[in-house]
Amino acid sequence: MNINNFFKIDEKLMEFDRRALESCKEKFAEIDDIAEFNQLKVLSAFIKNGVSEVTFSGSTGYGYDDRGREILERVMADCMGAEDALMRHSFVSGTHTLTVALFGILRPNDTVICLTGRPYDTITGVFGIDEVTDGSLADFGVKYSQVDLKADGTPDIDEIKRILKEKQPKMAYIQRSRGYSTRPSLTIEVIEKLCKAVREVSPQSIIMVDNCYGEFVERQEPCEVGADLVAGSLIKNPGGGIAPTGGYIAGKKELIEKCAMRLTCPGVGREVGATLGHSRELYMGLFSAPHVVGEAVKTAVYASALFKSLGFAVTPEPTEKRGDIIQCVTLGSAEGLVAFCQGMQSGAPVDSFVVPEPWDMPGYTDPVVMAAGAFTLGASIELSADGPLREPYAAWMQGGLNFHSAKAGVLLAAQKMYEKGAIKL
Ligand SMILES: *Cc1c(COP(=O)(O)O)cnc(C)c1O
Repeated sequence: MNINNFFKIDEKLMEFDRRALESCKEKFAEIDDIAEFNQLKVLSAFIKNGVSEVTFSGSTGYGYDDRGREILERVMADCMGAEDALMRHSFVSGTHTLTVALFGILRPNDTVICLTGRPYDTITGVFGIDEVTDGSLADFGVKYSQVDLKADGTPDIDEIKRILKEKQPKMAYIQRSRGYSTRPSLTIEVIEKLCKAVREVSPQSIIMVDNCYGEFVERQEPCEVGADLVAGSLIKNPGGGIAPTGGYIAGKKELIEKCAMRLTCPGVGREVGATLGHSRELYMGLFSAPHVVGEAVKTAVYASALFKSLGFAVTPEPTEKRGDIIQCVTLGSAEGLVAFCQGMQSGAPVDSFVVPEPWDMPGYTDPVVMAAGAFTLGASIELSADGPLREPYAAWMQGGLNFHSAKAGVLLAAQKMYEKGAIKL
């Protein structure tokens, strides 16, 4: 196969591509194994719960007696190794989904402690960490504190135990993905250790995991290793690139019931919520998710190997164990970062003609540049990248619906950098 039948990539760069691919072989075999395992897990959940043509027909109005919705939520619970789940297109984003879960469980004067340092940007406003924002948990009198990560970016188990023993919080909160930080993502093994530590010193604490970007990256999910509640976005991993919007919460039955009261209204809960015409897309997306996540992880591993061989610092390293689909590449210069995003955008199936430029995004201190040419607006299970224009000029990239096209996007990013003199060959 020669990519130059379709795109212009320098022959010297193609030599790096060949070597990167060669070095990824073992890792790719491992990723295929995990994808197959998770695919069969999802398939058996479909079979066990009797998914059929009629489950796709949507409801309108209040959405009473929507069998398709009820079965989808049972399928999702099984996929997450949980007792129960909510899965709705009406969650507007991952942040909204996490918010419903947090407000479903926490009450005034309760304490929530984040075990993994400062949480993802959009969640800080939900807790009301920096200021008591209108409608935040802090505004309702829920107390927040966090245990900072160690210098190497891993959770500080000793400190966690010390603080939880003392405070006995209502909730211990864990973020699985690195988000836009350079700390490593949490593997399931680490999540299990954290859950054990919490149970040891504060057994009644509810353990909630922000599962965004982590679903189907490993063979197990957080509820299978001790977490009580997880939540995530359907325009990331579990939507398989097909769900047009939405989110899910999975976990212990009594906790899901509480979340349902917040999702709609007290006393009404999960019994309502018209699915309109979206059930089929949510089923199809979930069914495709293990494979698509495998493609995205392959893309991340390949990009890590390619850019490492080109002399850039990468995290995770190509062979490192991963807990999410995110790859960080340190490009070292503003020109390099912008060229990277422009090259990647030029290989997108949608909006390939758009030339990304840095812009002052509301809420960010430095201009941000991003590449996103997706079928679903903002879907980061599709190949996308972004980064702030400040030292060390790192790009965070993720997604890829299929490895072949995503690999072309990564190569085009490198090619553009080469053309702009940001890569010397
Ligand atoms: C994406 C993400 C969220 C939610 O973000 P939305 O953009 O609101 O969907 C929360 N936490 C983490 C770690 C994420 O990656």
